[in-house]
Amino acid sequence: MNGPAKKTHIKALGRAGLEQWVSTLGEKPYRARQLWKWLIQRGAVSFSDMTDLSKAFRARLEATAEIKSLRQVSADGSRDTGAVKFLWECPDGNRIESVHIPEGDRRTVCISSQVGCGLGCLFCATGRLGFTRNLESWEILDQVIGVRRETGAAPTNIVVMGMGEPFLNYDAVMDALAVMNDPEGLAIGHRKITVSTAGVIPGLLRFTEENRPYKLAVSLNAATDGLRTRIMPVNRKYPIAALMEAVRAYSRAPGRRVTFEYVLLAGLNDSREDASRLLALLRGLPCKVNLIPYNPAVGGFQRPDEDRVERFLEWIKPLRSPVIVRWSRGADIGAACGQLAGSRPDRQDSPAFEGPTGGLR
Ligand code: SF4
Repeated sequence: MNGPAKKTHIKALGRAGLEQWVSTLGEKPYRARQLWKWLIQRGAVSFSDMTDLSKAFRARLEATAEIKSLRQVSADGSRDTGAVKFLWECPDGNRIESVHIPEGDRRTVCISSQVGCGLGCLFCATGRLGFTRNLESWEILDQVIGVRRETGAAPTNIVVMGMGEPFLNYDAVMDALAVMNDPEGLAIGHRKITVSTAGVIPGLLRFTEENRPYKLAVSLNAATDGLRTRIMPVNRKYPIAALMEAVRAYSRAPGRRVTFEYVLLAGLNDSREDASRLLALLRGLPCKVNLIPYNPAVGGFQRPDEDRVERFLEWIKPLRSPVIVRWSRGADIGAACGQLAGSRPDRQDSPAFEGPTGGLR
C-alpha cells in the first residue's frame, strides 16, 4: 500500500522552482508571485496566513505542499547593547545561531552558513563543535526572515559571519544572498551584505571571478604563517602569501575594499612586531581593518587591556587605511565574534577547552 504522497517543501524551491511547481499544479504564474511574497516578504509560516489566496487554492496547497521554517528555541538579549542571540532548530534537530545587532538606524543580522564548522580556529566556540553539515539555502535565508519576524523590524545589513565557513557552502550561501538582495525578496542592498571568510582561497577566487557584488571580509588574525597556522589550521592549506595574492586579485576591480578582521589576543599577536608585520602585509592594499579585542569564548586566550589595544592602533596608523576597534557587541550573551556555538543538546556538556589558543572573527 502506498503511503501519503510526500509534500513539496516549497521554501526550498527558490523563485524559479516555485514558478515551475505552481505551473505543474495548472495554476497561473501570478500565483507563484503571490506565494513568494507571502513566504519571503511577509514571512508566512502557514498557508492559512495567506489571506488573499482563494480558499480552494489554499486547500490545494495544504494537500500538496508544506512550509518548513526554523523553529526559534531561544532569544537572549544583551543588557549592554540590545543585541539578541537567536537559537534556531532546523527540521532535522540541528541547532544554529544568528545575532541581531541594532545600532542607530542600522539593524545588522549575523547569520550562520553551516551547522558547526570544520576549520577549527582555536579561538572560536563554533570551531570546537566540529562540522555537522552545510545549511541549505532556505535555512540561511530563514534566519533573516525569523529575526525580522521576532524583532518586528526589517534588517538593514547582513554579515555571513556566524557559525561556519561560507565559502565551503558557496552555492547555498550565494543563492540565499541573492534572495536577500533581490528587490522582490528582502531588498537589502548588495553593499550592505558582507561575506566573511577564514581564507578559503578557491571560494575567494570564485567570488572574484563571478564578480559577486557583496563586500568581503577576511579573518586574518596573524601576520606570520607560524602563528596563523597555530590559531587557524586552515592556514596550513591556504598560507598567507597565497591568501594575500587572492585578496589582491579581488581588490583589483574598482571600488573593492576588503575588510580584514584581526582578533587581538594578548601576548600572542598584539606586539609592536606583530603590528609591523601586519603593516607590511597590507601596505598598498585598499582595505579596512577591524581590530577585535578577544572575547573569552573558549579557554586559554586573554583579551589585551585597553592601553595595549590603543598602542596597537597607533602602531598600525601608518597604514593610512581606516582602522576601527570593534569591542564586540553582545559579549554578555555569548553572541560576540567567535562565541557562537549553536548549542546542540548532545554537545552542551562537552568538556571545557583547555588549549592555549583560540580564534574568532
Ligand atoms: S572562526 Fe569561523 S572559520 Fe574559524 S572555526 Fe569559527 S566559524 Fe569556523
